[in-house]
Amino acid sequence: MTLERDVLQRLRNAANKVKRSSEDAPATSDHSTKYHEWRSQAEIQSIRDSLLTWYDREFSSGNQRSMPWRIHDTMETSTKSKDQRAYEVWISEVMLQQTQVERVRPYFMKWLQKWPTLLDLANATEEDVRTVWSGLGYYSRATRLLGGAKIVAAIFDGKLPEDTTTLEKQVPGIGRYTAGAVTSIAYGLPCAAVDGNVVRVLARLRAIGGDPKSTVVDKLFWSLASSLISASRPGAFNQALMDLGATICTPRNPGCGRCPVREHCLARTETDNWKSISSDNNSIEDIKTAISSETSNDCTLCPRVFSFESQTPDPSVYPPKQIKTERPVKNFTVIVVERLSEDGFRQVRLHQRKAEGLLAGMWEFGMVELDEGKSTISPKVQRKRKRGGGEVETNSTSAQKGRKKSQASEKLDEDIAIVAVKDVLGLSTISRSHLGAVARSASSALTIESRKHVGTVTHTFSHVVWQMEVEHWKVSGENGDGEHTNDAKWVNIDEIHYTAMGNGMKKAWNLVDAVSEKGNVLSKRKRAGKGANLDNPTGSDE
Ligand code: SF4
Ligand SMILES: [Zn+2]
Repeated sequence: MTLERDVLQRLRNAANKVKRSSEDAPATSDHSTKYHEWRSQAEIQSIRDSLLTWYDREFSSGNQRSMPWRIHDTMETSTKSKDQRAYEVWISEVMLQQTQVERVRPYFMKWLQKWPTLLDLANATEEDVRTVWSGLGYYSRATRLLGGAKIVAAIFDGKLPEDTTTLEKQVPGIGRYTAGAVTSIAYGLPCAAVDGNVVRVLARLRAIGGDPKSTVVDKLFWSLASSLISASRPGAFNQALMDLGATICTPRNPGCGRCPVREHCLARTETDNWKSISSDNNSIEDIKTAISSETSNDCTLCPRVFSFESQTPDPSVYPPKQIKTERPVKNFTVIVVERLSEDGFRQVRLHQRKAEGLLAGMWEFGMVELDEGKSTISPKVQRKRKRGGGEVETNSTSAQKGRKKSQASEKLDEDIAIVAVKDVLGLSTISRSHLGAVARSASSALTIESRKHVGTVTHTFSHVVWQMEVEHWKVSGENGDGEHTNDAKWVNIDEIHYTAMGNGMKKAWNLVDAVSEKGNVLSKRKRAGKGANLDNPTGSDE
């Protein structure tokens, strides 16, 4: 049975059921698992040829996505050794995980400038790789690359192994996809590489309605990709399949009219036939009812025939959408503590996170995790901000008044800091986390000069959202013994962007910097009226 007839028959079976009573409806099998297999060797060859022809044409017409780690296998001459290519493909593939090409490009260039070869990387430190990676997210990728490079340098003479099993088993951070990409692109071996783009294309080509994350469906994708790959140009073929998913077979509104493999696509054929049947004798509602209540479907992969998300079925119903679970929200107060160094430089206090877990080993400002489920801003503070532009005086809070201490003379000890933060935020308890470190090291020498709430920053991770109230504290004095410890230091503000910090912290700093800058301009205007010195290095109007 040809592809068109096969799909058409499947839909007609369902449509016919609408006309019968439920008692006499035959137990017609809608489709079997075999429906998702390639039809023939000729079909496989045709898909390969069409994809590679399209890939070459896109390259010669300059449409192919330009990426510094890409070298066209037949149209470009490379002076690089296979081992060097393997290193570069490895770095690029790890950077591209969960990250857009445009964002990766400058990081890739910077990385290769710093560590041109795998052996150079093997001599780096964790702090080095975190710093260069800073801002790219998913920071454990950087330390895993370093760990992998050290092992490859020690065991494999600095050359990434040429077989996928050794790569996966022995090199930390290399999974099945990266192993397939490295071996096919750099070493020219016929190994499949199934990423999110490839899953989408294959799910549509074979109309696979099962959960792509399930083991059985995942296995099918790898099997389909392995039998499809071109033995003569495996790297180009894998990249063509990924490019098709990234540029034409996109998550929404796929460009089927421009697709080089559309004549082999079951999702497109189903959609066309659906439209033809629905405009025939049956209403879409009737067909929907008939198909979605189908009980004789013996395919072990698909839960149902078609996903009915709209009145106009579309190939993008494949693969089925993942149900997004709500991310929990964690509330923090970020305390950016700033001082003026003896040499007149603005400095901020940073702390290093633990070596494991989220943002392992990254630097951050003081952070206080707030009680779960409580508002981070008390109504009193909200009213105050609306009226007065956000200034929160330490000595204006009720707790501070009770202590009868003036703001300017307060020492930054742990209790006062916590009472202040609790009061500003209207909370009863607080986790002390990093704030304790600030206070302990600073208790004898630092004085709070001013304290200001500058705004809110939200940072989203894959599994959690951080809601951060940002405070800017200005202090004077020195930490004494605590000036620089293993996990805390003062840095000049122009070093912040070169420090291994997560994007959430950089957003918090940008906010503080913008507010300081604004205050500085106002302050300069005021002072200019009085003929004051305009070169105040603190940039402060306080
Ligand atoms: S025809 Fe459409 S749905 Fe099918 S592979 Fe091409 S772009 Fe994707
Ligand atoms: Zn199925």
